[in-house]
Amino acid sequence: MTTKTGKPLDQKSLDAILKRRLFYTPAFEVYNGVAGLYDYGPPGCTLQANITDTWRKHFVLEEDMLEVDCTMLTPAEVLKTSGHVDKFADWMCKDPKSGDIFRADHLVEEVLEARLTGNKKARGEEVVVDEAKEAKKKRKTKDTGAIKLEDAVVKEYEETLARIDNYDGAELGQLITKFEIKNPVTGGDVLPPVAFNLMFQTSIGPSSNLAGYLRPETAQGQFLTFQKLLEFNQQAMPFASACIGKSFRNEISPRQGLLRVREFLMAEIEHYVDPEGGKKHPRFSEVRHVKLGLLDRKVQLSGSTQLTYMTMGEAVDASIVDSETLGYFVVRIYLFLVRIGADPQKIRFRQHMANEMAHYAADCWDAELLTSYGWIECVGCADRSAYDLSVHAKKTGAPLCVRETRKEPLKIEEWALDLDKKKFGPTFKKDSKAVEAALEALTQDVREKLSLDLANTGKAEIQVTGLASGDSTVEIGKDLISIEKRTRVEHVREYTPNVIEPAFGIGRILYSVIEHVYWSREGAEARGVLSFPPPVAPTKVLLVPLSTHPDFKPLVQRLGHKLRQLEISNRVDDSSASIGKRYSRNDELGTPLGVTVDFQSVKDHTFTLRDRDTTKQVRADEQTICKAIESLVKGQKTWADIQHELPEFTQQDVD
Ligand code: AMP
Repeated sequence: MTTKTGKPLDQKSLDAILKRRLFYTPAFEVYNGVAGLYDYGPPGCTLQANITDTWRKHFVLEEDMLEVDCTMLTPAEVLKTSGHVDKFADWMCKDPKSGDIFRADHLVEEVLEARLTGNKKARGEEVVVDEAKEAKKKRKTKDTGAIKLEDAVVKEYEETLARIDNYDGAELGQLITKFEIKNPVTGGDVLPPVAFNLMFQTSIGPSSNLAGYLRPETAQGQFLTFQKLLEFNQQAMPFASACIGKSFRNEISPRQGLLRVREFLMAEIEHYVDPEGGKKHPRFSEVRHVKLGLLDRKVQLSGSTQLTYMTMGEAVDASIVDSETLGYFVVRIYLFLVRIGADPQKIRFRQHMANEMAHYAADCWDAELLTSYGWIECVGCADRSAYDLSVHAKKTGAPLCVRETRKEPLKIEEWALDLDKKKFGPTFKKDSKAVEAALEALTQDVREKLSLDLANTGKAEIQVTGLASGDSTVEIGKDLISIEKRTRVEHVREYTPNVIEPAFGIGRILYSVIEHVYWSREGAEARGVLSFPPPVAPTKVLLVPLSTHPDFKPLVQRLGHKLRQLEISNRVDDSSASIGKRYSRNDELGTPLGVTVDFQSVKDHTFTLRDRDTTKQVRADEQTICKAIESLVKGQKTWADIQHELPEFTQQDVD
């Protein structure tokens, strides 16, 4: 992975900065920590808050969504109905001798990648070893050595890796046998993959008889508020709910820092749409022209990962993306990622393959960001169809649907069936319920045929299940039923909305964006810079007095106070280090702006304003500088705008 200067990303230096500056840190470290649990330090916390703040502006505010805050503790019954208790699982393999446990797809991936590396070595090709990444691995994959593979084998491994997300447990088991995959540390055999449910179980209340789980996604809470939100929204469709909150997944092998953890912040949207009419979106024309890199399911199944660049309009027209609504959100996700600092060249959208899709999804596109760990799924955008609302409505009887008065009443011609209930009971006795249910279930075609039978023979025969005597054919005379064609007028339309769900993992996005904005400034020694866009940078302004001269202090205090009044975070660095050093320390924190207080400031209350990325400076009076800062941190202006408006300052070289 390269940075914006075209140089390879130095992950070791970046890690050192993130650690030194306390962006995040393993939790409970004095107790040796627990894999997959992290705490955020001050800059990480503010960065996360700024990302979620931008998310609220970009989605909740812009799309007028209904934000809710649902509980994390969820009764087991809810997650049983949603399918999570039975299906929210990954495939796990165990080495019975060593007790080592692996996520089956990761194991296959790890071993095949190591063999491909060994093959490259044997052929004398360049192998780039990421030392920082290697150092972070809890266990080391045994070096397969420089072993040459046949071309056909290389091709097979590469195709298997391209499809790795599509295999189920049995298929992963077959790959393990076929490729003779062993425990990469000990070389021991592993048992066939078994399903491991990822939810943390608990019990609610002192009697321990209400089983519950920590939620694995915020979605279920949102679905169960659907009816209330629809009412709140005055029955108007479409609409969306949104929720930001923690989710929990008992990952088999947490790894790669914040990328695979067991507790993480999610921001999820459930957009409810009428399934009739092709799921059009009223604002699709606004995003139609946006060009994206897409990796559809067909390309992956052919064993390739080649991106196709096309506009969203083209993708929807060619049915590569299923609907306008799904396409609209895919583009909105892209624009959000770019807004918070992701590099457009390092964003792709990958469609899920059939087996990879969650049990509830009808189609799904992931926004993946390129990092030094490869392409990482950061946002999932799934069409959950009517799955969740339907299963909860079926289980509870709650009306999780939309009832709309039709503009024009609908006239339906149908074969209606009437029973003579007085005679029906005595004739069929304890079987009457089963016979009645079988009659009600008859299709229009069968009803038409039976109406002729009744007219011609005076009786009709139907198949009935669940009779006291078992399943059998039952004869019903015309004294018991009549079937005739009638016109029914329907004034109300009832339907279960479909759900388009963009689901964001904030921690993954935060880390990936850090990699995208990181680069090194050349100089006597390379200095790391985090070029966060001003609206998401943890601290916005660094205030630096030229020296410790007492005249500077009141001016610095005044500026700090003014900026705080504008709700702009700022820090003072009045240490004795050189100005250049003080600025570069804050480049590491991603502070986008710096104000220097010098002797001229004491005389005429003018200040210099410095831009982190270009290190260029402008000079103006206090009010103008504060206004410029405000417009930059609100994202209303760019540094180029400010440079255009205010006089450049070059006398004092701060670097
Ligand atoms: P999913 O519901 O599996 O599509 O996940 C939605 C989003 O949550 C993903 O795109 C990730 O950004 C994030 N996510 C899922 N699992 C994890 C995890 N173990 N650690 C961190 N983020 C995760």
